[in-house]
Amino acid sequence: MANLPIVAIVGRPNVGKSTLFNRLVGKKLALVDDRPGVTRDRREGDAHLLGLDFRIIDTAGYEDEDPDTLPGRMRRQTEAAVSEADVALFLVDARAGVMPLDEEIARWLRSSDTPIVLAANKAEGRAAEQGILEALALGFGDPVQLSAEHGEGVGDLFEALLPFIDREVEEEEEVDLENPFAPLKLAIVGRPNAGKSTLINRFLGQDRLITGPEAGITRDSIAIDWEWHDRNGEVRQVRLIDTAGMRKKAKVQDKLEKLSVADALRAVDFAEVVVLLLDATLGLESQDLRIADRVLEEGRALLIALNKWDVAENPSSLFNGVRKALEDGLSQVKGVPLLAVSAATGKGLDTLIEAAFETRAAWSKRVPTGELNRWFERAVEANPPPAPGGKRIKLRYVTQVKSRPPSFVIFGTRVDQLPASYERYLVNSMRRELGFGAVPVRLTLRAPK
Ligand code: GDP
Ligand code: GDP
Repeated sequence: MANLPIVAIVGRPNVGKSTLFNRLVGKKLALVDDRPGVTRDRREGDAHLLGLDFRIIDTAGYEDEDPDTLPGRMRRQTEAAVSEADVALFLVDARAGVMPLDEEIARWLRSSDTPIVLAANKAEGRAAEQGILEALALGFGDPVQLSAEHGEGVGDLFEALLPFIDREVEEEEEVDLENPFAPLKLAIVGRPNAGKSTLINRFLGQDRLITGPEAGITRDSIAIDWEWHDRNGEVRQVRLIDTAGMRKKAKVQDKLEKLSVADALRAVDFAEVVVLLLDATLGLESQDLRIADRVLEEGRALLIALNKWDVAENPSSLFNGVRKALEDGLSQVKGVPLLAVSAATGKGLDTLIEAAFETRAAWSKRVPTGELNRWFERAVEANPPPAPGGKRIKLRYVTQVKSRPPSFVIFGTRVDQLPASYERYLVNSMRRELGFGAVPVRLTLRAPK
């Protein structure tokens, strides 16, 4: 299983642990109830917050035991959860204020080696003010003010947890994510008859797939491991994913349009890099743009190949025409690589695979903190954010929360008023200056308060 960072939620019964757990995991996994201690078991779930994945453990409370002391069983559960966690999130109830049991938990947490983040839940409204002050006195610094029920303060919580959970997640096989020699997961998508099967046959040098002039000939979608020899004679592993399965279901001609997008996306799930294959004799159609847009939305690296180049008429005006249509039609990412290939003759295929490996490298890249900070300062200085209504939007710092696709969070004040054009400026600048090329880059803005 993926080795995710772990956050343990700790606190006495009824402070809102399950409510927060549900909010972060996004599913109604834990039972929420007004009666203290209704949640009986330790629950775990995968949380997803602003592009960051982590595992969260909700520790249990037990109503049968004396609520004024830390019950043994609860304590043992909590101890185990906290010791295996990267950070413990200590939750108190801002409405009820700090109770003796909170203080006992605080004493105990202070003696543990796990870092603690304190949060005052139920912080919405004035009734919480006194409790927030009392929480401060627990000695874990300013509490993060939260309302798990109303979804307030989640950005602050994220910011507080980030230093403890911001690490690259190791994958099952412990693959080095930036290793250029790790097998490349490549999907070839495109409308029926674009030449996908022919291309894969060409790569494999054998007739493993059936190609033919009519749609619907290949029977299943397939993944095939294959070795490519690069220009330096190095062997590179490629796992090819074909969406041939779409054609089986596409027998009914008028359903073709719908099905090809859905099926292309199924292959995209398994891929790092997606090649959208176009038929040069037909050019770019709106269907192709839709597939391209969705691939980028899914955060995959995209390449576009104009196939059947051997029979293309007017090649240079065709190429420029498609290039232009892509620039106009793909709103999210400019400059997606466009290559001319022929699956029939093999022309351009080495260049295509080479470009796929290069694109994956950019997609997998983690920018060193120093470089990222220098870029951030330069970008903000060269073009400061606007001041709507005379009030300055202040951008404070940036962090890369993950790669594949590269995802960043920028923290600042009044960021909700930052115009979309400024966000695009930042993303484009990042692409250009940090070497992401045409890879989709995700940016989230957060205000600390
Ligand atoms: P747990 O025992 O710590 O897991 O607490 P629960 O999640 O079961 O919550 C206990 C009670 O507090 C429930 O009635 C929740 O609806 C309520 N609650 C949770 N979060 C908030 C909040 O942010 N504001 C308010 N006002 N109530 C909350
Ligand atoms: P798929 O439906 O996308 O898998 O497309 P196929 O691989 O079955 O190809 C559809 C048709 O286009 C077949 O008749 C192929 O022979 C032809 N074709 C594929 N690639 C090329 C190419 O590079 N040049 C030419 N001239 N024909 C091609």
